[in-house]
Amino acid sequence: MAAAAVGTMASRALIMEAPPENIVSEAPVALDSPPEPLGGPGVFISGDTMPSILPAAFQPPDFPAFERAEPDNLLALVQALAMPPWEKTVEAGDTLDVLLSRADMDAQTRTEVALALAVEYDLRRLRPGHQLSVGYRTDGTPSVVTLSVDEGVQIEVTMDDTIVGRTVTPSASTIERAGQLEVNGSIYASLDRGGVPARFAVDLAQILGDTVDFRRDLQGGESLNILWGQTVLPDGSEIGQPLMSYAALDLGDDQFEIVWTDEDNGRATVYLNGEVLRTVAPPVEGARLSSVFGQRKHPIYGNMRMHTGVDYAAAAGTPIAATAPGRVSFIGWRSGYGRVVEIQHGSDTMTRYAHLSAVPEGQAVGNRVLAGETIGQVGETGTATAPNLHYEVRVDGRPIDPLGEELLASAENFDKTDAAEILEVTRTRFVTVLREDT
Ligand SMILES: [Zn+2]
Repeated sequence: MAAAAVGTMASRALIMEAPPENIVSEAPVALDSPPEPLGGPGVFISGDTMPSILPAAFQPPDFPAFERAEPDNLLALVQALAMPPWEKTVEAGDTLDVLLSRADMDAQTRTEVALALAVEYDLRRLRPGHQLSVGYRTDGTPSVVTLSVDEGVQIEVTMDDTIVGRTVTPSASTIERAGQLEVNGSIYASLDRGGVPARFAVDLAQILGDTVDFRRDLQGGESLNILWGQTVLPDGSEIGQPLMSYAALDLGDDQFEIVWTDEDNGRATVYLNGEVLRTVAPPVEGARLSSVFGQRKHPIYGNMRMHTGVDYAAAAGTPIAATAPGRVSFIGWRSGYGRVVEIQHGSDTMTRYAHLSAVPEGQAVGNRVLAGETIGQVGETGTATAPNLHYEVRVDGRPIDPLGEELLASAENFDKTDAAEILEVTRTRFVTVLREDT
C-alpha cells in the first residue's frame, strides 16, 4: 500500500479541574534523595531541594505535584516522605488481610483499616489490577493506606488518633489532540492510519453524509484535519470516549468545517467555505448511527419496509436530548414505537423519540423544551432488538430524512458574527495544538 497518510500528532494538556489530591502517593517520587527524619509539623527539612520550614512556608517551586497541596495534606505528605511506601498490585487469590499483613501491619490495625475501607468501598469488588499501598511514619508505623480501584479512584485511610477513610476521585483532565491527514480509501481507514480515533468516521458521515458523497467526491488526496479532546487521568490512562471539537475536510473546490462547542451538548455547526451551512444536534451524544432512513429489510419482520427515522445505538439509560427547541406534544406509548416523546417545532414540524426506557419526572405535555434538553432515556420498549433511539422527523405528518433536514436548523436564530468568530478561534486552536509537538 502506498504511503498515503501523513499523520502528525500533537497534544497539549488542558487542566480542567484541580490537580491531584492524592499527593501522598506521588510525593516520594519527586525527591532525589531521602530527606532527614522528621519529628512533626514545623520541622526543618535539610537538603537543597526543599530549604524551607514546613508547613508554614511550604512553597517548593520545582514540584508541580506539590503546587496546590492543601494544608491538611501536608502532614500526610511529610509522613510519607519518611520511609518509602509499600506497594502491591492485587493478584488473583489475594485477600486484603494477607496483603496488609505483608505490609507489616498488626491484626488489630488490619481489622480497623479493613473496616474504614469498607465504609467507602464494597471490598467484594476488589479484584486483580487494583493497587494497595501503605505509607509509614519515621518510626515505621503505618500512617496511610491507599487502595487504588477503577478509573483512578482511590480509597485513602489515614491513621492518626483515629482511623479515617475517604474516597479520592481522580482529577481527570482533558488533553487536546490534533491530527492532519490525507484521505486515501475510506475515511475510517484514513483516520486509523493517521492515528486519529476511527470512530470519528461515523460522526463525519452523520453530519456531512447528506452533503458530501464520500464515494464520489473523495478521489483520494483530500486533506482532513481533526481536533479532539480526550479525558485522561493523572497516570496518563484514557477514560471515556474521545470527542471531536473541530474537523475540516478540504475537497479542493469546497472546504467543509465542523465545530462542536462544549456548551452545546454535542450540537455541531457546519461551515461551507467559511459560511455557516447549518447546525446539527444529535439526539444522543456520541452514539453510533445504527440504521438510516429509507427502505430497509426490517430487523424483526424480515420484509422490506420503509424505515421512517434513524436509529442510534446506545446503552440503555443514556440521556436523549431534544434536537431543537419546541413544545412537548405527546408522552406515552405507541405500539411498536414503545414509550415515545414527541416535540412540536413550529406549526408543521414534529420530532419523535421512540423505544425510551424512561422520561424525566417533570416532563409533561405542553412543556417548552430547549435544544439539548434531556427529554428521555434510551431503552428498548416496543419493537426493538437492542437498546436504541429511533429518531424521527415529520413535516405535515410525513416522515423525512432527519440527517438531511434543514428545517430544524434554519429555525434556529443564528448570530453570524458569533459563528465566524467561533470558527476563527477553533482554527487557531487546531494549528496551535498541531504545532505543540512538531
Ligand atoms: Zn428505527
